[in-house]
Amino acid sequence: MKSSDFLISTVKEAPNDAKIISHQLMIRAGLIAKLASGLYSYLPIGLKIIQKVEKIIREEMNKSMALELLMPVAQPAELWQESKRWDEYGPELLRFKDRHDRDFCMGPTHEEVITNIAKQYIRSYKQLPINFYQIQTKFRDEIRPRFGVMRSREFIMKDAYSFHMDEESLGETYQVMHRTYCNIFDRLGFDYRPVLADSGAIGGDSSHEFHVLAESGEDAICFSDSSDYAANIDRAETLPQGAPEEPKEDLTIVETPNVKTISDVCNLLNVKPENSIKTLVVMGDDDNLVALVLRGDHELNEVKASKIEGIKQPLQMAEEEEVIKKLGCNFGSIGVVNIDISILVDYAAACLSDFVCGANENDKHFTGVNWQRDVQKMTPCDLRNIVSGDPSPDGQGLIEIKRGIEVGHIFQLGTKYSDSMNANVIGEDGRAVNMNMGCYGIGVTRIIAACIEQNHDERGIIFPRTIAPFELVIVPINYNKSSRVKELADQLYVDCQQQNIDVLLDDRKERPGIMFADSELLGIPHRLVISDTHADNGKIEYKSRALPDKAEIDFKDAVSFILDKLV
Ligand code: ATP
Ligand code: MG
Repeated sequence: MKSSDFLISTVKEAPNDAKIISHQLMIRAGLIAKLASGLYSYLPIGLKIIQKVEKIIREEMNKSMALELLMPVAQPAELWQESKRWDEYGPELLRFKDRHDRDFCMGPTHEEVITNIAKQYIRSYKQLPINFYQIQTKFRDEIRPRFGVMRSREFIMKDAYSFHMDEESLGETYQVMHRTYCNIFDRLGFDYRPVLADSGAIGGDSSHEFHVLAESGEDAICFSDSSDYAANIDRAETLPQGAPEEPKEDLTIVETPNVKTISDVCNLLNVKPENSIKTLVVMGDDDNLVALVLRGDHELNEVKASKIEGIKQPLQMAEEEEVIKKLGCNFGSIGVVNIDISILVDYAAACLSDFVCGANENDKHFTGVNWQRDVQKMTPCDLRNIVSGDPSPDGQGLIEIKRGIEVGHIFQLGTKYSDSMNANVIGEDGRAVNMNMGCYGIGVTRIIAACIEQNHDERGIIFPRTIAPFELVIVPINYNKSSRVKELADQLYVDCQQQNIDVLLDDRKERPGIMFADSELLGIPHRLVISDTHADNGKIEYKSRALPDKAEIDFKDAVSFILDKLV
């Protein structure tokens, strides 16, 4: 490609809303252009990168024997009503009506559509297992679209759905997908980890997320410092911590006027947050109140809490009015002594003694509180986010926490959709069986943002060769003035093309400084500079994007030199 035939759409400034480096660089390098909140156009150079990512994904998915198909973006409500998700899926599902007043949605995912296809076209166990995939545009009306294409409303996903006679076959394909995802992320050059993820009602090890490690990641992922245990924060269990010590203090009520937060209370009473508890009140199954108790310095994990029997799903905090009516105080003074709602206590809070908590009277707290002596009925459980230094759930070593960007997710769905949508096949014994299903997603556009988070410097992106918009840029100095430079550059360009090198010849009438800056911003891995001075000596200048040094090489060896770099 010659720059004059292409669109180099680099811009000087990133907009103010671009908070993370990948968003800034994607705008500055001209890969994407914002249309509206969470909606981006992929400019020619951005699309070229997307297509390279898609090619890697396609090759690996095809190798795994998955079959590519393509499903519509718009989906009729009836399918979603059949699966019950029309009501369950929140406002992320963008719903609309057609001209006949029929309900539709923009597909945030395609379980319903693919199950409907499987139902129609798979009749016998002989056709199973089968795995379908597509690379397609998804729409999710995200509450806070941000970070460019990292969390956009419209984005490209590779989604796959497998169908099976039984769980064993599902487990096998799940392993194949796990390996396929590792192959894809290896080829993309990522520093990534597969981590155990929360698998909702299905349980077991039936879900993994693939996280690219990056400071800017939205997710916390938890590792053992001594084993290969890795899980996302919703999945990493905390363990029971033994019995509390014997009480030493008496239960004492103290005035705590105008204190609102745990740290206010602790400052006032001169106790550590680790020696206090906070009590959150949520709604129970039958609209009763349930107290969730955590150590003052710990955070509630909502996914864990919402999975506990008796708690309303999705988790719903009680209204303050309800709390006042039932417990007699504002949020800030709720405690665990003498309340007649069920009390669930996080393991870490359950082993405290002589602790501080609200007194269920505004502006009053208790000190010297002890379980059993002062609170007889309570249930210890795992309610909180694990923190670094906690014991690893596998019993080996301690937990370390890192930030991750979720680029992929694999999941064993079981018969959730085939049950509700009645997707069955005839088994070997002639009986109809609902198919087991797996689903497997990769965020194609998010991959590019994640790649930039891991590969950049102060001058721009440093793309790995596999997805760089071009493998090589030729920068001729005075292309439009020196016929010798033009001739050499054109010849080199043709020679590179003949060797299938994805090459950009920067033939713009720009100053060399601008051409260098653009090639660095764009992250093109290799650069050759041709000038009259070099030509006088039969030389050409080479620079790798990732390494600081420049080298002079013989002009006649330039193509083979680059080919060596590309293996
Ligand atoms: P997240 O927790 O980040 O919202 P998710 O669990 O909703 O992700 P899945 O439904 O598993 O995501 O979708 C599969 C993949 O699609 C994700 O692993 C991610 O890479 C990508 N993805 C999901 N939501 C978005 C989004 N809003 N913008 C870009 N990519 C996304
Ligand atoms: Mg999501």
